[in-house]
This record gives sequence, C-alpha cells and structure tokens, in this order.
Amino acid sequence: MIDPFGRSISYLRVSVTDRCDLRCVYCMAEDMTFLPKSEVLTLEELERLCASFIGMGVRKIRLTGGEPLVRRNVMSLVEGLGARIGAGGLDELTLTTNGTQLARHAEGLVRAGVRRINVSLDTLDPALFTSVTRWGDLAKVQDGIHAAKAAGLHIKINAVALKGVNEHEFDRMLAWCGEHGFDLCLIETMPMGEITEDRTDQYLPLSLVRSRLRQNWTLTESAYSTGGPARYFDVAETGTRLGFITPMTHNFCESCNRVRLTCTGVLYMCLGQDDAADLRAPLRDPAVDEAGLQDAIRAAIARKPKGHDFVIDRRRKTPAVARHMSVTGG
Ligand code: SAM
Ligand code: SF4
Repeated sequence: MIDPFGRSISYLRVSVTDRCDLRCVYCMAEDMTFLPKSEVLTLEELERLCASFIGMGVRKIRLTGGEPLVRRNVMSLVEGLGARIGAGGLDELTLTTNGTQLARHAEGLVRAGVRRINVSLDTLDPALFTSVTRWGDLAKVQDGIHAAKAAGLHIKINAVALKGVNEHEFDRMLAWCGEHGFDLCLIETMPMGEITEDRTDQYLPLSLVRSRLRQNWTLTESAYSTGGPARYFDVAETGTRLGFITPMTHNFCESCNRVRLTCTGVLYMCLGQDDAADLRAPLRDPAVDEAGLQDAIRAAIARKPKGHDFVIDRRRKTPAVARHMSVTGG
C-alpha cells in the first residue's frame, strides 16, 4: 500500500478497546464515557480486518488501547495474530500497555510470539504515579514489568514528559532502565481530546530535556529504529537506548508508515487529523467480500494526509483533534 505521498504503509496500530483501568491526566478526563459494547468489533472481526491489512502488505501490528490487556479474551486475538508471524506475512506483533495486567499475561504473550512490548510509565515515585494515573498502583505495574522481563520480553518504557510533574525524574528513570536493560522513550504531550487540565501547563519540549540529560549522560545519536517515530540515542553509561518522540518540536510525518484502527473499525490515516474511514460497514456487509474490503482499505490509504499540525499555545485552547489518545492508542 503506497499513499499519495509515496510512503509505504506497513504498520498497523489497533486499539482493541477504548476502556482503561487508569485515567492518566494527559490522556483521559476523570469521568470518561466509554463506547457501548454493541459498537465495538468482536475479536474475530478485529482479526479478520488485521488479516486483510496483512494481505495488503502490513508487516507490523501493535495492539494498544485504551488498555489492551483489560479487554476480555484479548489473548485469543494475540494468539490468532501471533500465528501469522513469519510465513503468515507478519514480521512483528507488539503491544503497548500500562502494565497493570502484565503479571498474568507476560508468559502468554511470549508463547503467542510477542517479543517486544512498550510499557507506559511516567514516574517511579509511587505517590506521583497514583496522582498522574488518578488511582494507579505503581507496585502492581512494577510487578508486571518484572514478570515481563522474566518471561523474556524486550521492554521499552514510554514516559510522557510533563512540565513540573516528572521532569526532575528522567535521570533516575534512565538509571533504573539501564539497571534492568530497558530502553526508555520520552514523549511530548499531544493536544488530543478534552482533559481536565490545561495542556499549556503540561507541555515540555524534549529538546530542553535532552540538553539537560546530556549534562549527566553520554548520548550518541543512533541509527536504530523500531519502525516508529522515535529518534534514538545510545547511552554509553547504561548500554541501553534513549528515544525521543517529538511531534511538537520536530514533525516526523515525512517518514510515516502507519495507520490506526479503532475498536469500532474506524481507520484513522493520521494521528493528528480527523479524517477517517469506516471499515465496520463493509466488514459486516454480507454483500462485500474480501476484495471489497480491501478496496475500502485502499480508498482510505489514498486519502492519507501529508501530516499533522499539532499546536499547543495559550491562544488555542481547543485540542487539535477532538478524540482522546485512547481512541487510537498513540
Ligand atoms: N493504555 C496503554 C498505555 O498506556 O500504554 C496503551 C494506550 S495509551 C493511549 C498509548 C500511549 O499514549 C501511552 O504511552 C500514553 O502515555 C500516550 N499518551 C496518551 N495521551 C497522550 C497525549 N495526549 N500526548 C502524548 N502521549 C499520550
Ligand atoms: Fe489508560 Fe494508557 Fe490512557 Fe493512561 S495512557 S489513561 S493507561 S489508555
């Protein structure tokens, strides 16, 4: 699949649920209304859509959410997709999780063929963790991370950089990740969905964070890439990597290879734009066969925009896109 700007689309992110057991302050409002179950695709429907994408050239799938591991029976989808790794056309199946349910799923993920996961963790301070997530328990997440490590999963920790909240912690987090052999990736906040807080208060440019970290760590730019938007640096002191995802200070759209499917079967061609294609209707229409479904996907890819135009400033109070990150999963 080649989009109008010549980019080859080989990476599909699938939000398997909009629900979550946490309410991170930058991601969700406290009183979120979730989708009625009737609107959500079954796991079998999600797998069929993924299979169509794989048939059209998608080589990498990341399951995300909401929190993917809170969806009932999600492991059946993981196993179904895992079986397509290799000869089935898929190179990699990965997952982004908040880690709360990892302790019980880590081994199952490995058995299904998952080798790498991203765990979102913004702080190592238990009280701060509870306040950023509104009620989360850091110990539970750390148990999950340790179980994932013990099961042999390669772990990348994703932390959203929040001004005045966790900016004093990145040295400590980098050291902790180094001790455990985890990569660390810092992310700028993106203006997605109404939240309770003011985003201009949260936004912290990562260029600033990087120059601060350079005072204590030897960072060498690396050619490493996971096919995502992060730019990586090797950390000489730890032997691990430090990544930066900078949608605000550095636009990464020119190399975008991905599209995002929601749990209701809506395909977003860009994280930062509202245009989307409904794939649920053709999926559920008995008159539409596999070729028809692929036509619908192809028509959507033909509308993939050049890029996003996220802005966070005091004059523009409304989010760049109305939907929350939990709809498409980042
Ligand atoms: N619940 C899972 C988790 O937290 O890893 C997966 C879904 S979550 C929406 C995916 C990623 O998006 C997380 O790393 C989260 O920190 C990030 N995220 C959520 N809202 C964001 C925002 N407004 N700006 C930047 N990153 C955001
Ligand atoms: Fe849930 Fe992930 Fe959003 Fe936090 S970032 S509220 S864990 S979906």
